[in-house]
Amino acid sequence: MITIDGPAGAGKSTVASEMARRLGYRLIDTGALYRGIAWRVRRAGVVPEDAPALGRLLEETTVELKDGAVLVDGRDVTGEIRTPEIGEFTSRLSTLASVRDKVMPIQRRLAAAGGAVLEGRDTGSVVCPDAEVKFYLDAAPEVRALRRLRELQGRGIAADPQAVRSEILRRDRQDMERALAPLVVPEGATVIDSTEKSVEEVVGLMLNVVERYGCCTPS
Ligand code: C5P
Repeated sequence: MITIDGPAGAGKSTVASEMARRLGYRLIDTGALYRGIAWRVRRAGVVPEDAPALGRLLEETTVELKDGAVLVDGRDVTGEIRTPEIGEFTSRLSTLASVRDKVMPIQRRLAAAGGAVLEGRDTGSVVCPDAEVKFYLDAAPEVRALRRLRELQGRGIAADPQAVRSEILRRDRQDMERALAPLVVPEGATVIDSTEKSVEEVVGLMLNVVERYGCCTPS
């Protein structure tokens, strides 16, 4: 089990999927599960403050990761959940115990068989504290904002650089300051700053740690 946590735009998704590919591991994008839930809540028009309505909706909603896609009640929402608005709403919803209690068992079930790379905010601290190898990936805020902007532009989504930067910083603050499963450097994690590193460099550093641990053989 390998976990990669860190703030928005640090490069976790890219690096985690490359690690999974090289090691022949499964990729578990935990943020996608939270985003899927947020998409459903927003679509239903339920406000986070309405605990009974939220509870009912969570009970009847299914969210799963299948072949790199995110399915909510069987519908593929992979493209729709990657917007700054859903990101921000997801961060708000993720502060709630009812939401975390919904997503936690799904993540643990997916990770149970091992041979997995989990990426998110609390995968090494709360979801899989017993993971063999843990990473915390960080980068300077300006670089994270720029990466997120390029990613959005690459998908044809027009975005204002200043708005992207503030969205990322607001989200980080919320994720770090929340009472439940805040974003922290997990105990025993290797911290990597990707500000001036390429994807290849970060993956190389991570593979070295994995190899040192001796849990798997990179191909
Ligand atoms: O990683 P991604 O940007 O898709 O995550 C969206 C949001 O989901 C985060 O800002 C965070 O609030 C929440 N999240 C979480 N715990 C995780 C993964 C994501 O609270 N393990």
